[in-house]
Amino acid sequence: MTQDRFAGCLVGLAIGDALGMPFEGMSAEAIRQRYGQVTELLPAGRLDAGQYTDDTKMMLCIAESIVERGHVDPEDVARRFAEWFESGDLRGIGSTCLESILNLKRGISWRDSGRRGKWAAGNGTAMRIAPVGLIDYPDLERLREDCWATSIITHDNAEAVAGATAVAYAIARLVTGEADTRTLLPEIAALVEDSEVARNLEQARSLLSADTPTGDAVAVLGTSGYVVETVASALYCFLRTPDDFMSTVASAVMGGGDTDTTAAIAGAVSGAHNGVLNMPRHPLEEVEDSERLQALGRAIYRLASPQEDDDYDPTT
Ligand SMILES: [Mg+2]
Repeated sequence: MTQDRFAGCLVGLAIGDALGMPFEGMSAEAIRQRYGQVTELLPAGRLDAGQYTDDTKMMLCIAESIVERGHVDPEDVARRFAEWFESGDLRGIGSTCLESILNLKRGISWRDSGRRGKWAAGNGTAMRIAPVGLIDYPDLERLREDCWATSIITHDNAEAVAGATAVAYAIARLVTGEADTRTLLPEIAALVEDSEVARNLEQARSLLSADTPTGDAVAVLGTSGYVVETVASALYCFLRTPDDFMSTVASAVMGGGDTDTTAAIAGAVSGAHNGVLNMPRHPLEEVEDSERLQALGRAIYRLASPQEDDDYDPTT
């Protein structure tokens, strides 16, 4: 059911984020040695078990803006980023986002607020782009434009935009229930051609066809905060276990590095494919704002496909 996959995408992102939160910055080896297999939502620092970080906070700014405005409005998204900053509940905000939001607060337009240059190729826009993939799933051109517009608010960098577009496109395809997971990587790589993101996705495709175990593959693809690495690793984790949400997000965390963001992206993609109905009960119940996230997903579904009805069967 399509509506259920919209809900699964947003809550899946938060679950991946919360699962990875306690391990951010640790190496894969340290996580394995100290914790073995990661399956439970754990507390860390000021955050309780099940609480999400900046990744979900920023995604919520976009999702709530879409639901209120009915479409992607970058000016309104930028205003919500600034409002979130004012709340002080920043939960590990990245330096690129912080710098750009300070620009917004100085009165600089969303078109010029984003960081430029090679240090702006972080994963801070890919991590929050899921709602754009949902609202724009029927219109690929609009998806490209909206990915660009919401990305440059903080990351005015071609690789950061390509990474966000890759994630949004994966979600847009999967949420229909009609995507072929065997051809997803080449499809995405073709969409963001001539980028480092595409080159690492091609590498992921080679590793996948060689049946490389996930831990070995993500060690090659990378799990730093560099978007080129994050997107390829997150999609690899999904494509190794497309029908098993928990294995996907757990393997994204076990890769170490920017664990909350890699797992947030893997969780959004897997959630879009599996839907809430095929996700395990315990993280769905334990993650912060579970109902709200699912309701937002369903609201975006209604906006994206207003004349569609899940129960409508054209053959009867
Ligand atoms: Mg985070």
